[in-house]
Amino acid sequence: MSWIVLESVTKRFSNVVAVNKVNLQIERQDFFTLLGPSGCGKTTTLRLIAGLEFPDEGKIYIAQRDVTMELPKNRNVAMVFQNYALYPHMTVRENIAYPLLVRKVPKKEIERKVAFVAESLQISDLLERYPQQISGGQQQRVALARAVIQTPNVFLLDEPLSNLDAKLRIEARSFLKRLSMELGTSVVYVTHDQSEAMALSTKIAVMNQGHVLQVGTPRQIYDTPANTFVASFIGNPPMNIVECRFDGPACILDGQKIDLSELALIEFPKERGFIGIRPENIALNTKEGDLVGEVYVVEPLGFETVVTVKVNMNSLRVLVFEDVPYRSGDRIFLKFRKDKLHVFDENGVRVRR
Ligand code: ATP
Repeated sequence: MSWIVLESVTKRFSNVVAVNKVNLQIERQDFFTLLGPSGCGKTTTLRLIAGLEFPDEGKIYIAQRDVTMELPKNRNVAMVFQNYALYPHMTVRENIAYPLLVRKVPKKEIERKVAFVAESLQISDLLERYPQQISGGQQQRVALARAVIQTPNVFLLDEPLSNLDAKLRIEARSFLKRLSMELGTSVVYVTHDQSEAMALSTKIAVMNQGHVLQVGTPRQIYDTPANTFVASFIGNPPMNIVECRFDGPACILDGQKIDLSELALIEFPKERGFIGIRPENIALNTKEGDLVGEVYVVEPLGFETVVTVKVNMNSLRVLVFEDVPYRSGDRIFLKFRKDKLHVFDENGVRVRR
């Protein structure tokens, strides 16, 4: 049995189905991320694991124990939520040490652990201050420190980096990844930030409208998205997905025929469907390609440049890693890496190879 199991878990709030028949299996070594847009049910799923909500249907197991109706204090979980609550009458040091004090851990060991996590999270110089004397981002790091100093069955982290500025966020992300390898137990992490999910996770569950749409490693989700929603949610800039008409092993887009015979799909969509291609898997040139269009805009981002090309009503983004000689209005050919092309049926479900 996996370390954490959700079996067909459903949670309703009056007429909203926040979590809908969700099945999850999380291993002890997993950094498991629930990823999806606002309101998709991520936080509710985490609160169900924590015991802050109880499911209407289904079962939850932690460490081989049915905890479906157990109170949070009987689940041995450590949590950091968006609205982290620090004890206002305790210093930062006391806040961090608190979970260990309660468990009567020897004083010397507490000191050593507090010093280590404080150093790692760059809050060593704040230890004698009170929560109201530090910034929101610093408070968030204190909350994170207080969680990671424990040895729970599972760490539940809900957007713990959301209050940090961009630079600190990247730093804290690296720290969190490194730390998670040393924690020795699973982390269940909630974010709507796909790059954070990709960077941190061993597994990602992509959610939408209470449903889990796909579970996999970041690579699996990136390379073989189960449907157009997952495909467009992962990757920055996102995958280009365009609706087209299929005609045998070819698709027709804006009257232009794209040969797909080398794709070796199990079956091509009969009539309508979608093709998907990531911006880094399209090459641009002025002579020949799979599609012809017009450069709409060129956006240099430093390391790479994003070129948006209009093919009639469709916009396709192309990621280019060298200097771009094109200007808005130029006629341009797009050449697809066919082995990286995705085909989805009329319902947006991936067609397997
Ligand atoms: P966000 O990223 O914005 O935090 P989320 O993916 O975590 O969103 P949830 O907070 O789990 O989403 O909410 C899922 C759905 O359940 C939403 O439609 C939300 O409005 C609803 N919901 C959540 N908690 C409650 C509650 N206590 N009472 C009523 N509805 C709720």
